[in-house]
Amino acid sequence: MDLFRNFCRESLDTIRAQGRYRQFTPLQKQADRFPHYIGTDGREILVWSANDYLAMGGHQAVVEAACDALRAMGAGAGGTRNISGTSPAHDALEAELADLHGKDAALLFTSGFVSNQAAIGAILASRPMGAEHRWQVFSDEKNHASMIAGIKSVPADVQVFAHNDMVDLEARLRVADPLAPKLIAFESVYSMDADIAPLAAICDLAERYGAMTYLDEVHAVGMYGPTAGGVSERDGVADRIDIIEGTLAKAFGCHGGYITGAAEVVDYIRSVAPGFIFTTSLPPSTAAAALASVRHVRADHVRRAKLFERAQTLKARFDAAGLPRIASESHIVPLHIGEASLCKAVSKRLLEEFGIYATPINYPTVPRGQERLRFTPTPLHTDAMMDQLVDALKQILATSQRLAA
Ligand SMILES: *Cc1c(COP(=O)(O)O)cnc(C)c1O
Repeated sequence: MDLFRNFCRESLDTIRAQGRYRQFTPLQKQADRFPHYIGTDGREILVWSANDYLAMGGHQAVVEAACDALRAMGAGAGGTRNISGTSPAHDALEAELADLHGKDAALLFTSGFVSNQAAIGAILASRPMGAEHRWQVFSDEKNHASMIAGIKSVPADVQVFAHNDMVDLEARLRVADPLAPKLIAFESVYSMDADIAPLAAICDLAERYGAMTYLDEVHAVGMYGPTAGGVSERDGVADRIDIIEGTLAKAFGCHGGYITGAAEVVDYIRSVAPGFIFTTSLPPSTAAAALASVRHVRADHVRRAKLFERAQTLKARFDAAGLPRIASESHIVPLHIGEASLCKAVSKRLLEEFGIYATPINYPTVPRGQERLRFTPTPLHTDAMMDQLVDALKQILATSQRLAA
């Protein structure tokens, strides 16, 4: 025990010395004042980096659905889905999500992280071509930790291809064992780089080389596509992707993760994945809230259009102010800072001097030298809030850069 405690202390010292120690910022969400939160000592903080992209977490229909279900069914599910944790809200939500992506079936998990880890792990543990043929996985180098956790959970041959690089992906597919089952795992919107994968090109390669496709649409569901089905819907390729995974915790503002796909594939994963079978299901109130949110968002075209208008406006204001914005094809607006301690210092000054919160993104989330602040405007971020943010950033960057130079 002493040995391990010493190890922990020394490791933490190293993490601190490298400027990578993570400290929580006290922020209490206010459902009816979003994006204003309550910070330390009751101070009101304007948050610019919530993943509640559409401000659905505090939407009246969502909160009421949660309260109604909570009163009717209580706080916890009381079991796994197989034991006693299935409510009508779970079933209805799965039907809604399958419909959202135009798939036969959907399966809920307790988070997006768990859905990736459990589903990818279950796929790679299977042996559809016989025991002698392991899966070959082709994984984008920027894939989220949850997909990597699934990939690493079983022995498989893993090929990491250069980010969104179709030449590299094809070169790797071309030399792969033709008899091995193949899985290409990728995201649509990459949240740290704010770029979008060429989904149709990936589908072309998958079809040419007989690979299955697994798409993480966590940062796109609820926002992209004519009915909020993600970039796969926007690009008209949802039917060419075998498994589409998403979260209820970002644009839908609630909690939980899911996969959608062919009936037998989803049923197989339901039947074998330990990360599904051996954990208590989502609270019925959460399933009910998420169902209300998905239904609302699919129909609320104005809200979704407003998100993109706000993101465009923030990008234009950063550009007009000469702020070093990183090019972004998505609703996420990153600002280049380029050094870990400076990135933290700018975030700290925004908070302390201006009551504004934006997350510093440092190594290892992004490579060294690419440290950034990440802004996620929502439909509720106003022009006046943008003016205040731009003024604060201009002041801070002018003085902080002098200190750092
Ligand atoms: C946030 C995130 C997840 C995990 O989703 P949660 O519901 O928060 O667990 C999965 N994939 C990507 C790309 C993410 O950014």
